[in-house]
Parts: sequence; C-alpha cells; structure tokens
Amino acid sequence: MTDFVMPGDKLGLIEEIEGGPNTFDDGETIRASSAGMVDLDKKSRLVHVRNGRQLSIPKKGDIVIGTVAMMLPSMIAVAIHYLNGKPNSSGVECICQNPDRKRIIARMNDVVALKIETHLNGTIHATIDDPELGVLFTKCNACSGNVVPLRNGVKCPNCGYMEDRKISTNYEKSDFVKLRD
Ligand SMILES: [Zn+2]
Repeated sequence: MTDFVMPGDKLGLIEEIEGGPNTFDDGETIRASSAGMVDLDKKSRLVHVRNGRQLSIPKKGDIVIGTVAMMLPSMIAVAIHYLNGKPNSSGVECICQNPDRKRIIARMNDVVALKIETHLNGTIHATIDDPELGVLFTKCNACSGNVVPLRNGVKCPNCGYMEDRKISTNYEKSDFVKLRD
C-alpha cells in the first residue's frame, strides 16, 4: 500500500495496525499526523507516513497560537499559525469548547493562545482555561478600534463599547498581534 495522505486521514483501526512515525490515534483509529506517503508493513502491522518535514500536528500539551476562524455560542475553531512558538503551516484547525454559552470567549479573527488537550474523531480539541491562554489581540466589535483589556473582557476607549473575552495574561505582549492586520 502506497498512498498519499493528508493530516487526519484514516490509516486503519487500532485493533488491526500499530502507528509509527507521523501518525497518531484518536482512541479508535490510526491517523496521519502529517502529509506524506503511507507505508504499511504487512508482517509487523506497523504503519507510518513518510515525509520530508518534521511532524507539524499539535500534540497534547502543546501551546498553539492562531486566529479564530469560526465562532459559535458553544465553541470556537482556531486556525493554527504557531505551534510552541514556531510558525506552523500545516493548515490545521483546533476547536475549543465554551463552557458558558452566555459569555463570549473570543470573536472572529481574534488572535488566541490555546493548549492542546486531545485528538478525538479527527478533531483536535484545545483548552483556553489557563491564565496565559486566551485572547492575545482583538478589536472593538462596534467600531474596530483598539481595545484595552479588563479582567473578564475588553473596553474600547474610542466608543466606550465593552464586551466579554477570555483575556490572556500575555495580551498584546507578543508579536503575534501582527497576525491580524
Ligand atoms: Zn469601539
């Protein structure tokens, strides 16, 4: 078997094969963690993905920084641009649940820091629940002006608009603000 796969593609079931380099399992399925060619050793039942690059898919405990690509009351999806401080071009997204649907944790295009928790059914789940995690940069939702962080949100000095956010202790301290221009 020699096939080209993309990150997240299914390679086989855990009961049937074992995952080698550039793979991960989501509890049921062995999946590719990077793009490349699949190698399956039929004798050892070991599968791995050959590629020229280092593993670029986030793992549990990794810190990722990206921009909010989708926002729902229950969750946000974040396009990952940095993995543990290094630029990441895998194009992978992760999602982060919002436990309190009445509060806004981040809006579209906000730059946020998250910590990876699990891979589940091909989806990468992350948390925003540490002080250094959360929004690194955002703008006023009313006038698009720059805002100042409050304890549980932001305030716009320009128009006075206030709104919820899960603010990171690193708000506006990093260079990642240039992700959103
Ligand atoms: Zn404003």
